[in-house]
Amino acid sequence: METKEYLKYIVEEIHTTIVATVDDEGLPVTAAIDMMDYDNDSLYFLTAKGKGFYDRLTKRQFLALTAMKGEDTMSSVAVSIRGKVRDLGHDKIPELFKKNPYMHQIYPTEESMKALTVFQIYEGTGEWFDLSKKPIERASFNFGKVEIKREGYFVTDNCIGCGSCLSVCPQSCIITTGIPYVIEQEHCLRCGNCLNTCPAGAVVRR
Ligand code: SF4
Ligand code: SF4
Repeated sequence: METKEYLKYIVEEIHTTIVATVDDEGLPVTAAIDMMDYDNDSLYFLTAKGKGFYDRLTKRQFLALTAMKGEDTMSSVAVSIRGKVRDLGHDKIPELFKKNPYMHQIYPTEESMKALTVFQIYEGTGEWFDLSKKPIERASFNFGKVEIKREGYFVTDNCIGCGSCLSVCPQSCIITTGIPYVIEQEHCLRCGNCLNTCPAGAVVRR
């Protein structure tokens, strides 16, 4: 999927996400926050300026979030994002209220809406994780000016083709058609079993 489709999925299919910020003591704090709009490379949400959440956002200008959809663990899709945020002020509030009319029940008058400000997540990286598929499916994406890092477990040229990693891989996602073996990144759980088992030190974590 394109980045915009991941962002659309968060807003339209999940909507309420768990957002983590960091307090003055460097400790994490979570809050349930609705993602109310998206575009090609941004997510938008709002909060009241009187909240501790607002203080933490303006101080750190960074957050992490996870959004999940599914009836139980094995039917769930999870999307996680880490990214930079900026305060856009009040101008986009009417647009967000139009797209999310339930907000009128929480802030029913123009006067009460004055407490609110809109934040934009404008640059970051994301992970898509689908446990409903067998083997599992995962994908990475980025938005804004961030370059995507190729993270995960990889088999290097030190591989001798002994096959020890195959029996410990819970997703059977190691391809053996040549040496070195190849890990299918889109199905890898990143459990680390292959690295711990390999007698040749051929598996690396990046
Ligand atoms: S990290 Fe785990 S899931 Fe991924 S290839 Fe290695 S053993 Fe398999
Ligand atoms: S255990 Fe290591 S050396 Fe053996 S096949 Fe797997 S990656 Fe290659």
